Amino acid sequence: MARLTFWLDVDNTLLDNDRVKTDLEQHIEKLIGPDRSRRFWELYEDVRRDLDYVDLLETLRSFRSAFPEEPHFPHLSAFVMGYPFTGTLYPGALEAIAHMKTLGAVAILSDGDPLWQPAKIARSGLAAAVDDQVLVYGHKQEHLDEVRKRFPANRYVLVDDKATILADVKGRLGADVVTVHVCQGRYGREDDRDPAIDIHLDRISDLARLGENSLRSR
Ligand SMILES: [Mg+2]
Repeated sequence: MARLTFWLDVDNTLLDNDRVKTDLEQHIEKLIGPDRSRRFWELYEDVRRDLDYVDLLETLRSFRSAFPEEPHFPHLSAFVMGYPFTGTLYPGALEAIAHMKTLGAVAILSDGDPLWQPAKIARSGLAAAVDDQVLVYGHKQEHLDEVRKRFPANRYVLVDDKATILADVKGRLGADVVTVHVCQGRYGREDDRDPAIDIHLDRISDLARLGENSLRSR
């Protein structure tokens, strides 16, 4: 059993997902124009509401049903499905993972859809960086029992940009988890003073400076 296991979030923790979203918005508008682009993102929100997570492939399917005659759909589909994710990791993300590997076991624990999100994790280089220790759920905090069975450890360190997820997991695991809030991206400034958060970092690269002694639960 590992002494320490790190569970790392992906979007806006290791990978600049705000930048990816902006890039997608710009390209999609160029491909299908502003009106249909607006409809695409409305469907994206409808899918998010229905499934309770973002699903771009489902959004594509939904757009295809709404606009079967759209002449640029093959390019839209190719662009979304083939999005490369090269250069989308935050500076220092891979170095932070390398540092965590010197302290314990490291796994990706990501929220997202079951198809596009794993492809994102592979294409960005993150799957290789964690030796394919990758788990993706709609809501990771609802699967902690199976995640703990998969990665048995004395203590866990959860690294995430969403204070609400950190607080939820702290409520479920108590002193067994150290919660690290990376204050990056659109959600990173919310609830920054939540007492359930043990450690605050401005950016993921700061993780490379944390020693084992500072990773103590409170
Ligand atoms: Mg995130």
